Amino acid sequence: MATLYDPSRDELAALLEGEPRYRLDQLWHGLYEQRSTPAELTTLPKALRTRLDADLPLALEPVTESVSDDGLTVKWLWKLADGSQIETVLMHYPDRSTVCVSTQAGCAMACGFCATGQAGFERNLSVGEIVEQVVRASRVAAEGEPARRVSNIVFMGMGEPLANVDRVLGAVHRIHGDLGLSARHLTISTVGIVPGINRLALEPLPVNLAVSLHAANDELRDELVPINRRYPLADLYAACEAYLTVKNRRISFEWAMIDGVNDRASDARELAAAARSLRAHINLIPLNATPGWPTKGTPAERVASFRDQLEDLGANATVRANRGNEIDAACGQLRANQEIAVAAPRRRALPH
Ligand code: SAH
Repeated sequence: MATLYDPSRDELAALLEGEPRYRLDQLWHGLYEQRSTPAELTTLPKALRTRLDADLPLALEPVTESVSDDGLTVKWLWKLADGSQIETVLMHYPDRSTVCVSTQAGCAMACGFCATGQAGFERNLSVGEIVEQVVRASRVAAEGEPARRVSNIVFMGMGEPLANVDRVLGAVHRIHGDLGLSARHLTISTVGIVPGINRLALEPLPVNLAVSLHAANDELRDELVPINRRYPLADLYAACEAYLTVKNRRISFEWAMIDGVNDRASDARELAAAARSLRAHINLIPLNATPGWPTKGTPAERVASFRDQLEDLGANATVRANRGNEIDAACGQLRANQEIAVAAPRRRALPH
């Protein structure tokens, strides 16, 4: 069933057939500029509000809302109509407010160190289910003290965005065109689905691409990011190169720092070489603990020295600040159903 933010403007027009033409503008303005529900749109006649509420329900029912980092990070666990659960995180920074959205319930990519990957795949989210995460978080940001405007969206929540590329691009257009965020402030993060990257390269909107690299040789990447067996590094780098040629927008590489696994001098050399040749920016992510992955994260001082090594090798690297750790909202910790028993990791953790 369609939810409130699923229909396009034309589809909403069809739903409003028989109503005066200005009703469409009123409804669209209410949903996308005021971020209101039909019930709240008192400019609409009561009977119409009631009908819209019944025909186009909200997609997300809050299960929990957790706040951390002195109110600067908020995480929601939402229940969808079919009972599956997803998470959304709102993060306030001095210069921006960012929403991290989920694109799938669960994930099929099975990266062993990621909680969502450990729990397996349920289903793709619809355009409306993705867009509504932004709307709901924006509203909370706007109603906060101080009021804040959401400026950035990262498609880095649960799921693999480029394994649900049609809906993700549908959501990107809605967020850019209708919610009014700049496409330059939207970032799609991928495990490296080559056809999806090629598809993104054809999109006219200047969204950012982040690639979860984590290893820069196939042997290690096959272990850490199993989809590498289908799209090995040579193919992934070629797709990045083509993307860069067409879009001329800087790619970023994400690298979760795993103690003794991908933080050696040889890793720095391989990563720096790849980043230099693609002019990519490297984002080092301190590994966050998850239930099904025994190997620890690299200690902070060695994360810093790894960054220094990368810089010495001529690559640009920054360490990503951790957010929402105590509410399990940090990178890789999002997992819909905390009750899901985590089976033994599909892939053995690598020895130290
Ligand atoms: N499927 C997309 C989006 C997922 S999450 C992707 O893989 O890019 C965003 C980032 O968090 C990815 O780089 C992912 O590899 C990283 N991540 C996953 N688990 C993590 C963990 N336990 N600690 C730190 N980063 C993690």
